Amino acid sequence: MANDNLKHTDWQLIINEIANEVRPLLNEGKVADYIPELANVDSNAFGISICMLDGRAFSCGDAHTKFSVQSISKVFSLTKAFSILKDDLWKRVGKEPSGNPFNSLIQLENENGKPRNPFINAGAIVVADCVVSNTEDSLNTIIDFIRELACNKSIKMNQAMFRSEKAFGHRNAALAHFMKSYGNIEADVDEVLDFYFGHCSLSMSCEDVARAFLFLANHGVHPVNKRRYLTASQSKRINSLLLTCGTYDAAGDFAFRVGMPGKSGVGGGIAAIIPGLLSICVWSPGLDKYGNSLAGVKALELFTTKTGISIF
Ligand code: GLU
Repeated sequence: MANDNLKHTDWQLIINEIANEVRPLLNEGKVADYIPELANVDSNAFGISICMLDGRAFSCGDAHTKFSVQSISKVFSLTKAFSILKDDLWKRVGKEPSGNPFNSLIQLENENGKPRNPFINAGAIVVADCVVSNTEDSLNTIIDFIRELACNKSIKMNQAMFRSEKAFGHRNAALAHFMKSYGNIEADVDEVLDFYFGHCSLSMSCEDVARAFLFLANHGVHPVNKRRYLTASQSKRINSLLLTCGTYDAAGDFAFRVGMPGKSGVGGGIAAIIPGLLSICVWSPGLDKYGNSLAGVKALELFTTKTGISIF
């Protein structure tokens, strides 16, 4: 990528334009309500933040409003598990797109309790088990880890969201018990689920999330605190999984339209990166039929179109 050509890019102007252009779409998506607390949100909200590896940051709209990160947090637990278990992790969870809804049970039976990838719920629950089985005080450990990545000590769980996830998490509980029956969950199922619901119910702003993804844009080293969280090869692997599996059953469409590795969550956030350059997070709670933020995907599509940058 010719980064020199980007020297004069007016990033603020670009994201302001994007915010204006997606405004008419804000009411077209549907806010998730299968976890009742998720519906408790302003459906008109839209935020966007970019963090550059050189330290600059640009934000627009509701970029400082906290939202429920949901599945975006699976990237942080995967990072933790991968750094602990290294390639042994892939004995427990696969690396292929699932082609099935994110909370499907069917494939799991056909494939003997080994989830297709770490971003469908079954895969993220196995990853959760890997962290729970290998760390003390796991939930606080992962929350502290995410605070460190986001450079924000005040990040916390939304307790109402956590209770709502737990009360309505029958399908996730079913997935966890099912995998336990195949021997693919080591720790106590309730402990694993509490950890999983706990990190999904964290509240973060677009700026928090974008900053927390910077290490993936920088071959595993966070440019702010200079710490290495993953090897360059591990960072490449996570980005590859984000591209192929990070946006539910629409990863192909997302790659086609946007051209960046990214992770979405049912709270309406999407985080994405351009290696060697930047991380970006958009948030708008209305979802498309695949569960990705409708205005968020459009905003990222506009971003790569207007700037002419993508990973390709
Ligand atoms: N905690 C949510 C669930 O397990 C995460 C869903 C998502 O964002 O994809 O259903």
